[in-house]
Amino acid sequence: MRSSAISITHTMVGKPQQLPRPRAMSACHLSSEDLPKSSKERYTNWFRTKPLSLTHEQAIELINDANLAPEKLRILTYRFTWRLQALECGTMSNQVLLEQFLPIFDMIFFFDLLQPELCQLRFIAKGAPKWIANFEKKSGRMNAYTNRCERKESSIISRITFFEKDLADDKTQTLAHLGTLAHEMLHSFFHIYVCRCEEKCKAHLKEKNGLTGHGLPWHRCALTIETALQKALDPSIHLSRTLVMAKELNQRNESTSTMPLGELGLVVSEVEHRIAQYKSMVKTKVKEVKGDGPESDDSEGTASDGTVC
Ligand SMILES: [Zn+2]
Ligand SMILES: [Zn+2]
Repeated sequence: MRSSAISITHTMVGKPQQLPRPRAMSACHLSSEDLPKSSKERYTNWFRTKPLSLTHEQAIELINDANLAPEKLRILTYRFTWRLQALECGTMSNQVLLEQFLPIFDMIFFFDLLQPELCQLRFIAKGAPKWIANFEKKSGRMNAYTNRCERKESSIISRITFFEKDLADDKTQTLAHLGTLAHEMLHSFFHIYVCRCEEKCKAHLKEKNGLTGHGLPWHRCALTIETALQKALDPSIHLSRTLVMAKELNQRNESTSTMPLGELGLVVSEVEHRIAQYKSMVKTKVKEVKGDGPESDDSEGTASDGTVC
């Protein structure tokens, strides 16, 4: 049986001219004095040709600058309404949904910085062998994950692998797909643009990115994007922030007091509940190994952030 994995490229939204393929190892982050003064110049020309050129703080600043402009959010609302109408007519697949919204999100949230030569999306359709294997995983199925691949003297590629969801209600499913897409695109943005130089940045990478890719900088950006999506689309859309905060804290073996949950709009009791679920999952797995326990539940909404090529 052939795999249903399909590569999705930016096709639906007008893009700026093709830019030279950026070199992965050519840039380190620059001081703020080196940045072009005009924000238009910074975002349309400068950042785009300089992967690995931002500090985490600059990345947060850029995402905050990109978002919440009313005219941009109106485009999003319009496209979403159109999507729902197409659903009623039964004319649009989930694959096409992602194909259309990836470049829209890129334009609205990432200044067109996630071009197809840097950020690729692989769609695993429901029923495909890889989809079934993921669905049957005892360690918990994934909605999506993002790999980062960097080769010396070559470019960085961030690849999002997206498993089609299987929800009964079309609108809920659409919102869930879009929330996951935005979540993974934010990982791609960090993969491609945040500096990892030996001299300054590499030493702080784990502290900033966290153990799961969901460190504080990721969460600050995710809050900005989620707020915009909730305004433009539907208050129920989300980027699984509670879930991945719990995942990160559980990995670190830290309590909720070590993160500014209130500032991030997260509810302490909800994060703690998720942490408890993670801990019980581990216990269940141990029982499974001993052969006296039930199969573990799927951990919906998880997203891994590997760095394999
Ligand atoms: Zn650096
Ligand atoms: Zn994630």
